[in-house]
Amino acid sequence: MLCLASLTFAWLEDITVTLWNLFLIGQSLEERCNRILRDMEGSLTARDRVGLQDFVLLEAYTSESAFLENLRKRFHENLIYTYIGTLLVSVNPYKELGIYTKKQMDIYMGVNLFELPPHIYALADNVYRTMLTESNNHFILISGESGAGKTEASKKILQFYAVSCPSTKLMDNVRDRLLLSNPVLEAFGNAKTLKNDNSSRFGKYMDIQFDHVGGAVGGHILSYLLEKSRVVHQNHGERNFHIFYQLVEGGEEDLLRWLGLQRNCQQYSYLVQGECAKVSSINDKTDWKTVRKALTVIEFSESNVESLFAIIASVLHLGNVKFIADSRGYATLNSSPEIHWLSKENATVLSPFTIDHAVYARDALAKAIYGRTFTWLVNMLNESLANKDSSRKTVIGLLDIYGFEVFNVNSFEQFCINYCNEKLQQLFIQLTLKSEQEEYEMEGIEWEPVPYFNNKIICDLVEEKFKGIIAVLDEECLRPGEATDMTFLEKLEEKMAGHPHFITQRDTFLTFCNLSLDHVLTIFHLQVMRQSKNAIVQLCFPTTEPDSKKRPETVATQFKSSLVGLTEILMSKEPWYVRCIKPNEGKQPGSFDDVLVRHQVKYLGLMEHLRVRRAGFAYRRRYQIFLQRYKPLCPDTWPNWKGTAAEGVQCLVKHLGFKPDEYKMGRTKIFIRHPRTLFATEDAFEVC
Ligand code: ADP
Ligand code: MG
Repeated sequence: MLCLASLTFAWLEDITVTLWNLFLIGQSLEERCNRILRDMEGSLTARDRVGLQDFVLLEAYTSESAFLENLRKRFHENLIYTYIGTLLVSVNPYKELGIYTKKQMDIYMGVNLFELPPHIYALADNVYRTMLTESNNHFILISGESGAGKTEASKKILQFYAVSCPSTKLMDNVRDRLLLSNPVLEAFGNAKTLKNDNSSRFGKYMDIQFDHVGGAVGGHILSYLLEKSRVVHQNHGERNFHIFYQLVEGGEEDLLRWLGLQRNCQQYSYLVQGECAKVSSINDKTDWKTVRKALTVIEFSESNVESLFAIIASVLHLGNVKFIADSRGYATLNSSPEIHWLSKENATVLSPFTIDHAVYARDALAKAIYGRTFTWLVNMLNESLANKDSSRKTVIGLLDIYGFEVFNVNSFEQFCINYCNEKLQQLFIQLTLKSEQEEYEMEGIEWEPVPYFNNKIICDLVEEKFKGIIAVLDEECLRPGEATDMTFLEKLEEKMAGHPHFITQRDTFLTFCNLSLDHVLTIFHLQVMRQSKNAIVQLCFPTTEPDSKKRPETVATQFKSSLVGLTEILMSKEPWYVRCIKPNEGKQPGSFDDVLVRHQVKYLGLMEHLRVRRAGFAYRRRYQIFLQRYKPLCPDTWPNWKGTAAEGVQCLVKHLGFKPDEYKMGRTKIFIRHPRTLFATEDAFEVC
């Protein structure tokens, strides 16, 4: 009876969910079983309409068309989530679905993954409970291209933990800070792009720390490669970072007066290059209020808040500084009001620059100020989220990192973003596909290998020592003045000739040398900044910083090292995946573009993942751990059992009635083919 019920659980389709949810809470397992048996007939018809909730159940599991068909069917029924085993596929609905309520959270709390229709809450809950029972660290990698729904997914997970975790007054405090760090970071690090009105322009990894009873007690954020060039330049149809517009539109009268700002974005050259300062989906005024409130809850002091917005304002003023040529062709300043607001201290630094140089130096300074302020902001958030108690904690990491991006003209930033995605794909391959196969081999489990494309060759092309694209770029950056994007490109074409994955589009390699160098801050810049009375600027431009480094590390190399660091952090934790898919390019609800989706299914490696899952075993546990958890189901045998853990497990599964094809015994672990077998066991466990 119990086994049968669980089987049915797994096949239950979403159509019954609303009704089902009403009944679920407060029912005993017996009642739930009876109800499901009654629903069974209905659910079979429903399945035709709404597809399968787990691709593992797909009969034609090798067919990409069948995969797409299932995804499309569900999408049109507003069922945006589908599993591949424990991996969650999510398709952006581009509309509010009403599925993120407190009631939904309650429904998903403490319920096994396959008992209810797929949901981001189910995954979040499962990760959380695994962390608690196994006392180990986890991470959820959320990937997909820009606009696919990654940031929304990470927010939903965080909100779920905020609501579902045990709570004390102290924990409420941490919870609020964790939640409110999001609008602050988004204000300073997100912007409207052609792909997404709220596009993250930095990568984010956030650890949520839990104590031994599962209370959220702290957090830590790592940020990756903020797209600083956006501060001074935006493509058509794109905006600068939200915070600039929020301040101008929403800032209180007094504040704007103090900062010398006018309430008109059109006045500021850094805000209007994309010609879309106003966006219908964004309310800068309301967002300003949210950010201001968040800063207070996170306990930014008033003076810090003032200094912060003084910096934002000075970047805007800086952008309006114009130069005219003097009789010798050197740039002189032609914007006294801006200079007044910028430098109330009247320090004068003279430096002979042509106009082009002067504009370049001005923009470099704006980018440096903003970039360093962003780093300061992340540090402040971390201080506020830090857990001072040294007792043992486990963590769930959330990785929300920019997705693949391909524009008509691609620059250094797209190179870094796409390289990062290749690295994460490599990690995915190592952690699931490759390690899965290796584990079967190591455990002596019979197994038919699944062919897959290993993108290591792409990662090597970019990052290999001495030979990779970054190495060539670094070499070129060492020849300032002589090296240009063209010489870099020529060198690449020479070195990479014949590489199966290297092709160049000339305009793709624009701006590489400049952007990777990013050390155009001169000693003059630094001297001026060090004189500032602004407390944050003082921290961001410390007098201890050397005036010049002989061989400054390039941005590409810094990024490469930070990705190596990230990979190490992730490798030490148990992985979970959310793969986000963008259904159309137009941000439209209800439209499912087959070609676009098929492309994403391909490069996200979903078919390969499915094949591995289907061929393999969904669940595996070390004998000791398995035995520890389930031995109470066989009370007659324990505690008098004498034998190895493997023998104990063998005895246990016999007692539980596992069929021979449902599981395999490896050298150190038991492998269970289908999750439903395990859930039957879990259910039996709950009853007992
Ligand atoms: P990404 O971080 O992958 O670039 P976002 O998470 O910012 O993409 O999503 C882009 C937009 O798509 C959001 O601003 C929101 O309008 C919409 N969206 C994403 N996920 C959902 C969802 N689960 N429900 C409703 N709308 C969503
Ligand atoms: Mg995002």
